[in-house]
Formats: sequence, structure tokens, C-alpha cells
Amino acid sequence: MAAEFLESETEITTKNSLSRTKLPDVWQVRTKNGDVLLLYTTQKLKDNIQYLRYPEGIHLRRNGFYVEAKPSNESWRQKPFMELSAGQALPDWSLGLFFYKGDCDPFAAAEKQQRTIYLWTSILGIAAMGILVGMVGRYQIRQMRLTRLKNDFVATVTHELKTPLASMRLLTDTLLEGRYRDETQVRDYLELIGKENHRLSRLIDNFLTFSRMERNKRIFDFRKVHPADIVNAAIESVHEKVSAEGFELKINLEPNLPEIVADRDGLVTVLINLFDNAFKYSESEKWIGVHVYADKAMVCFEVTDRGLGMSRREMKNIFERFYQVDQRLSRKVGGCGLGLSIVKFIVDAHGGEIDVTSERMLGSRFGVKIPVLLENHS
Ligand code: ADP
Repeated sequence: MAAEFLESETEITTKNSLSRTKLPDVWQVRTKNGDVLLLYTTQKLKDNIQYLRYPEGIHLRRNGFYVEAKPSNESWRQKPFMELSAGQALPDWSLGLFFYKGDCDPFAAAEKQQRTIYLWTSILGIAAMGILVGMVGRYQIRQMRLTRLKNDFVATVTHELKTPLASMRLLTDTLLEGRYRDETQVRDYLELIGKENHRLSRLIDNFLTFSRMERNKRIFDFRKVHPADIVNAAIESVHEKVSAEGFELKINLEPNLPEIVADRDGLVTVLINLFDNAFKYSESEKWIGVHVYADKAMVCFEVTDRGLGMSRREMKNIFERFYQVDQRLSRKVGGCGLGLSIVKFIVDAHGGEIDVTSERMLGSRFGVKIPVLLENHS
């Protein structure tokens, strides 16, 4: 290469900076003390600079960058992030700044990170808005349901009170106008009036209990009471109806029942409501069974009938306020969908449990379990 250089009539440089020769791809530079002239091919120079890219022992970091050099008139293999001239020592050379690994451009990475942050912020914002909308929606639905419940309540109360009142007025008018055959008919009418009156009282009792329940005002009076006492009081209140409607009542009180701590009137209401339903939802087979027994630390009251019964699906909501499986049937027999919700409320207040088994056209069994000792009652 030295011989070719000498023949090329290139002017020998005196500078210790790199300059072109007339040979293609050959460069010359004088050493610092000027004694030696060094000739380099472009490739050799590149290789030396390339060596700087990976100096021994220096580990290039993932997001690092490196510098490449090339003669100014050559073009880059790929576009550098930044380009500048190599300076006095390498005139006619350019330096390019490249990111180590093209796909790990730190700016692109930062942009990606920023985009991820925006994306998550938007997702979280949308999710928060969704939750808020859901909560507002639920509140609105609850309000609507409450309004409907109130309207239902007013409609039911009006209807339920009007029916017995109208029939009592009709019967008393008939009696007052003397439109009866004999003493027996007078007695029949009076009995009917008595029945309607009884039904009205039960309805009003239930409405009052319900309204106190709504205002959390039902005050229970917990005292020691014998289960037989509760059953007898409930039976006394319905015995007229039992005989008038031709029901058979089978009572089975197990011996040695323990006393329980309970609100006597509350539990009497529970049993009366269960009896009432057994009356209302029985057709041909008029039979009601009452079984009271002790089970561990509980006393169980079971009321069974052989009436219309319910399917599994129909049983699901019967303890909800105003729920009726068949509204037309309940209206006909005189129900307003409050009886079982009151039963559940009272049983809950005693820390007890209620369960039901029923089969369509075979009958139902309602079981109420009351703990012998009431825990934490106030
Ligand atoms: P209602 O005043 O309508 O009787 P309840 O809360 O007492 O209201 O009962 C809710 C629903 O459960 C009733 O409408 C009825 O369909 C059903 N139900 C309750 N007791 C019985 C039963 N012994 N046999 C069949 N269905 C019953």
C-alpha cells in the first residue's frame, strides 16, 4: 500500500490529523513527533473506531448508545439519532450517535411508558365513572322500588280494609231492614260479621306490626315462657275459625319442653300468621298439624298443612314484604303479602331460624326454631 501511495503523487501530509490520499479509501496521518507517516484504509479506521464501541470490560447497558464514524461522503447504514463532524483530528469524517439496539430507543421507551400511563389513567377513570354510574343507578332503582312498595302498600291496605267493611255493612243493612227468614239466618249473618271483624282485626294487627317494624319500633318483651303457653294462646285465637271452616287440628306437644326466653305476643303472632296461611291456602284437605319439640338448645314449632303447597321457585321470595306467589289467589283469600315477612322479622329478633318445605298440591311445612336462651337481648 506504501508503494502505491508513493506512486499516487499524493502530497505527503505534515499534519497529525487524518487526510485523504489520492488512493481510494486510503488515509494518511503523521505521528505526533512527525517521524512516521501512517496509512490507513477506510475499513481499518472504521474497525478501530468499531473497537471503541465495545471496549473490553465495558458492558453496554440496555438503553445505552454508541458512536460510529465514517468518511463524510459515505452514507450511513442506518439513520443515526444525531450526526456531527468528527473534529480537527478527523476532518472529512462524521460521527453518528446510535442507540444500542434499535428497538430499545429510550425515547420510544419513554413514549411507550407515557402512553401506558395515559391508557391506565383512562381505564381507571372510565372504571371509576362506571362504578359511580352503577351506584347512582342502584340508588335510583331502590328509590323506585321503595316508591312502588309504598304505592302497593296503600293499594293493598285500601283493598284489604274495604272488602270486610263492605261485607259487614251489607250484612248489618240486611239485618236492620229485617230481610231475614228466621233466627238461624240472623245467627249466620252475625257469625259472618264476627268473622269479617276478626279478619279486619288481624289485618290491622299485621299492618301495625309492619309499620312498627319499618320504623324499627317493635319493642319486644323477652321473658321466660313455656312453649305450650304460646301454642295454646295462638290456638285459642283461631279455634273458632278451625271449627267454622271444618278444619282438623292435630296438636303434638312433646313432653318435657323447656321454657324459652321470648316475647310471648310476638311468637303468638308468628303461629297465628302460619295458621292463617294454612287456612287460606288449603282447599279440599282441611288439616293443620302443630308439632312442638326440643332440639339441642332450640325449641321447634312446626305448622303443617295439606293444602295447595308451592314449587321450589315459588318458595324463593315468600319472606319478602308484599310478595305473593299468586296475587289473584291471595286477594281472593284475603292476603296482602305481609304475613311471612312479619314472621321472619319476629323470628330474627329472637335469634331463631325459619325454614319451609313444600310441594305443589301436597302441602307445606313451616318450621320455626327459637333458641332456649336468648343471647344478647336488650
Ligand atoms: P299473604 O298475605 O299473601 O298470605 P304471606 O307473606 O303470608 O302473604 O305469604 C306470602 C305468599 O306465600 C303467599 O301469597 C302464598 O302464595 C305463599 N304461602 C304462604 N303460606 C303458604 C302455605 N301454607 N301454603 C301455600 N302457599 C303459602
